Amino acid sequence: MTSKNDTLFTRAQTSTPGGVNSPVRAFRSVGGTPRFITRAEGPYFWDADDKRYIDYIGSWGPAIVGHAHPDVIHAVQQAAARGLSFGAPTEGEIEMAEEICRILPSVEQVRLVSSGTEAAMSALRLARGATGRDKILKFEGCYHGHADSLLVKAGSGLLTFGNPTSAGVPEDFAKHTLVLDYNNPQQLEEVFHQMGDQIACVIVEPVAGNMNLVRATPEFLQTMRTLCTQHGSILIFDEVMCGFRVGLTGAQGMYGITPDLTVLGKVIGGGLPVAAFGGRKDLMKFLAPLGPVYQAGTLSGNPVAVAAGMSTLKLIQQPGFYEALSAQTGKLAAGLTETAKANGVAFCADSVGGMFGLYFGTEVPGSFAQIMACDKEKFNTFFHAMLDLGVYLAPSAFEAGFVSSQHSDEVIAATIAAADKAFAAIR
Ligand code: PMP
Repeated sequence: MTSKNDTLFTRAQTSTPGGVNSPVRAFRSVGGTPRFITRAEGPYFWDADDKRYIDYIGSWGPAIVGHAHPDVIHAVQQAAARGLSFGAPTEGEIEMAEEICRILPSVEQVRLVSSGTEAAMSALRLARGATGRDKILKFEGCYHGHADSLLVKAGSGLLTFGNPTSAGVPEDFAKHTLVLDYNNPQQLEEVFHQMGDQIACVIVEPVAGNMNLVRATPEFLQTMRTLCTQHGSILIFDEVMCGFRVGLTGAQGMYGITPDLTVLGKVIGGGLPVAAFGGRKDLMKFLAPLGPVYQAGTLSGNPVAVAAGMSTLKLIQQPGFYEALSAQTGKLAAGLTETAKANGVAFCADSVGGMFGLYFGTEVPGSFAQIMACDKEKFNTFFHAMLDLGVYLAPSAFEAGFVSSQHSDEVIAATIAAADKAFAAIR
């Protein structure tokens, strides 16, 4: 019997390049047919064949309170009934800005936008505008959205500037981006020593979730904080993924390191398009309409999206929310590790707050090179076995996974039972 997913995928490819609106959804890395989702509730979603999956991507992060949470849906319905978009300011935007500033002490002022890409791109422009410098520094394996300056990989040597990772990015843009190794403080020291006075900013995922999950070492983040301060460069924490995910105050709270600017997204929109960038007031005043750095958006601070975000921000501040979320995610990582061991499969897992990494290797990776050394073929086999058993993991060995507050003990136990069969298939 043909799956409706196959029919939809064939149809989608006629009108949309590759049949998807964001590449990882196409299952290119793992092979097979993407599942077309029809509805979601709590920790589950259902595909076009009405097959139910335990969902571990949570819309790639936003669904931290589970899908279709009644409070969020109610807030969205109420807001929608008052009108969808005005292109003029609303009180809801003030409330959201105040809430973000209250939760994250490093954020004195914030601007709302509609995607993480837009937020990171705008934070870079702000850093460049405020410092009058062009060079930016990023790290291999981190993703900050698809702005031209950020689709860049390392050049051939430490001090050569980067090469575009996408066609259509001019070399002239890429040459201003320097790409270093994640978790390598010596390299940072060396580069700042040579050209610190040219560097507008350092942008980093302080818990990396776009090369699978890799925790920054405290020394790595502390070194970049110190060097940025010494050289007048702006430190940007991209917390689009780890913000409100590893804990209420994000990676900056967890490590106790204060960035100059923070980029946010995902959780703050609760499933609708809200992202933000914010930080020191003396930097934010460079933004239009006050200052010379231009940035704008027709749907920025959209009232329906802000309503979804605000109701999500309220839910995650309920007492014990992150303790419970971390405990469930920890149980998942520990249970999978134990089951793999029982099946004789070289595997380990790690979790931070509500995000986790799965590694087909013997040690939890601390660098991009170690991630690349994990067994991708084994991951792909595991992914498909789990998918067949009704567990939807990120369809790539290089993405982190996400747990929501609706992933109960029963859901975690069902996942581990499925993994027992999937690991047996690998062995
Ligand atoms: N920064 C990080 C750390 C991200 O994980 C992402 C998206 N996965 C982005 C930026 C870009 O966000 P968006 O997809 O909303 O443009």
